[in-house]
Amino acid sequence: MTDIVEKLYSTGNLSDSELEQLILTDDEETAELLKKYADETRRRYYGDKVFLRGLIEISSYCKNDCTYCGIRRSNKDADRYRLSREEILSCCENGYELGFRTFVMQGGEDPYFSDDVMVSIISEMREKYPDCAITLSLGERSRESYKKMKDAGADRYLLRHEAASEELYSKLHPKEMSLQNRKKCLFDLRELGYQVGAGFMVGAPFQTVKDLICDLRFLQELRPQMIGIGPFVPHHNTPFAEEKGGTLELTLRLLGILRLLFPKVLLPATTALGTISPIGRELGLKTGCNVVMPNLSPVKVRKKYDLYDNKICTGEEAAECRGCLQRRIESAGYTVANERGDQIDFKIK
Ligand code: SAH
Repeated sequence: MTDIVEKLYSTGNLSDSELEQLILTDDEETAELLKKYADETRRRYYGDKVFLRGLIEISSYCKNDCTYCGIRRSNKDADRYRLSREEILSCCENGYELGFRTFVMQGGEDPYFSDDVMVSIISEMREKYPDCAITLSLGERSRESYKKMKDAGADRYLLRHEAASEELYSKLHPKEMSLQNRKKCLFDLRELGYQVGAGFMVGAPFQTVKDLICDLRFLQELRPQMIGIGPFVPHHNTPFAEEKGGTLELTLRLLGILRLLFPKVLLPATTALGTISPIGRELGLKTGCNVVMPNLSPVKVRKKYDLYDNKICTGEEAAECRGCLQRRIESAGYTVANERGDQIDFKIK
């Protein structure tokens, strides 16, 4: 089995059947070698740096009804909130002091955040923080909308494709959503000059190894600058409440594979990974990850951005979160980089 890892490391690719074997094997020597090469590869391009992204969860209102997600519109028990422009800007002020040089505005698909509202917030952030990257994660919008926000100063966009197989995508989403539109959004974003992030959940209900390979192949086609993956974690108020969540081992396996398929990619050790294991993010960092996304949202709304059960980091102030993550990063053998952290070689237009 270790020869498959050797091949992945030296050629940067594998056949479908080799990927399948590597995803499924429980051989420990293979897992160790994958981890070693993943770490070596991230160090070749990024040294021991870990980039921080200050995550501002701007709204828990959502017009979509994704089956897995706790803030889906059918969850009538969800406690909804949206941040005001002043609250968002005050999160940035706080984050800037803490050393963050990337702000991520993420939210449900909330019509309140129209193009005009977003353009005005982004323009002000751009003016106040010329040295920071502005990342958006606001779901599917029109090409015109993405363009307006790019022109206002946004740099990056995170939009996980969620599942690149039609069959799985349709099991995880309501019928009014389509994989085709999600993919179109990603290609529009790339064409408009955004640094783009795609990704998927590991261990989602109905997901097979073939589906995972399909995700990897789609990523090879898209060539995103960022790839966000994390375990699926059930939420008690969704149709998937009784489903099993994704495992630590499988998520780490995919992180290692992703690092070797995409040596220069920005790869976060996600909050969901930290939720299923107390040392999940540290293990992620040791398996090729080079980004963490501490929460900058006001503490009073943290619990309401309730995507899945037992989500961590919902109680601390931003400064505590930042301190906790710095300790975790250093304990894993890496250092915090207080910089924008663009993908190496990405040409900013
Ligand atoms: N509305 C935005 C942001 C969605 S929330 C968008 O559509 O992109 C960010 C990510 O959280 C989603 O892309 C999804 O992959 C993940 N997520 C949602 N529910 C989850 C769950 N139950 N377990 C793990 N991850 C989940």
